[in-house]
Amino acid sequence: MSAPSFTPINRDLYHTSDALMEQIKALVYRHPDKLYMETTGGKNKGYRAEMTVVTYCRNRKDIDDKSKFRILLSFGQHGRELITSELALRILSILSGEQFLPNMDPVSLNNTLERLVIKVVPMENLNGRKLVEEGELCERRNGLPETQIMRKLCVSFEPHIWVNVHSGMEALFMPYDHKNTTPDGLHSHRIRLMLEKLNHLHCEDRCIVGSGGGSVGYLAHGTATDYMYDIARVPMAFTFEIYGDRTASSKDCFKMFNPVDLTTFNKVINDWSAAFFAMFNMSTHQLDELGSKASSSNKDKLVSIDDYLDGYLMERSSRYGKKMEVLDLGMQEIRTYFRLFLLSSVLLLFMFCSRISKSNRPLVSGIPL
Ligand SMILES: [Zn+2]
Repeated sequence: MSAPSFTPINRDLYHTSDALMEQIKALVYRHPDKLYMETTGGKNKGYRAEMTVVTYCRNRKDIDDKSKFRILLSFGQHGRELITSELALRILSILSGEQFLPNMDPVSLNNTLERLVIKVVPMENLNGRKLVEEGELCERRNGLPETQIMRKLCVSFEPHIWVNVHSGMEALFMPYDHKNTTPDGLHSHRIRLMLEKLNHLHCEDRCIVGSGGGSVGYLAHGTATDYMYDIARVPMAFTFEIYGDRTASSKDCFKMFNPVDLTTFNKVINDWSAAFFAMFNMSTHQLDELGSKASSSNKDKLVSIDDYLDGYLMERSSRYGKKMEVLDLGMQEIRTYFRLFLLSSVLLLFMFCSRISKSNRPLVSGIPL
């Protein structure tokens, strides 16, 4: 009998998906003042998906307070990246007050949390995760219903910050994923500085910082971050990659994407929960500056037809909830039709005007001078 060439899931370190969900449910149950949990479902061609979202707000009654900064964190988009969902559990425990961050000033943390509403999706791709637990350790597909539920959530919640948490390497990515540049401007520059600071403080400068497209060289995460940044207009959209073992064989997925010993497991969870809370701190300062700038300067900007239509459709889709999929999938087509419609209107107007000027001409020349 030969030893297996891949590492099995270490059940001493990792929860099963059911156990993890039970832990989260129990946590929410113990802290009804701060935590609130809901489950949404979606369906696409017979494929069913379910997604649990936990909302943190210091006082439950302020949950819809629009003056608060809104943060959306999603974990476990890829089933094989089990460590990310363990981090979600730790972050929720810290938010509940049951666990503490060792090197964080409690007063400043408290002041920051006071101003936030945080939505956590601990296991975005539960179906994918189940496949991994059944032994398909390299499963990494995204489900379409899951993506649609995330987009809906983003449209209704309108987060200021969105972080898509993955593993496979150590990186702090900002847009764009589809090209090897970061957006222009001071805001983008400041975000980059913030990520570099996080890298220095919590990743020992090991993390790659920059655009996903530029740093990885391929479309690493579809265009999830780009969608959130460009279309859903989330001012800070990130992909954090929290762990990767580059020495592992590409078939040894559990080892490649997840720490396999207790020391590394704890280090990853501790370092990254600290990084997240530091990010909450820094980004609220960043958003304060952005907010004061926006209100003092002229907000009117030239908006392209694409931007305008995207904004219009997003607004409509959030208002009409269920029509989302149709609008979402048909966005490209609608845009094309709208452009054609505009073009033909301009042409018609031009023809109409030239006819009028033609029919006017004899009249003008008929007036005796
Ligand atoms: Zn991933």
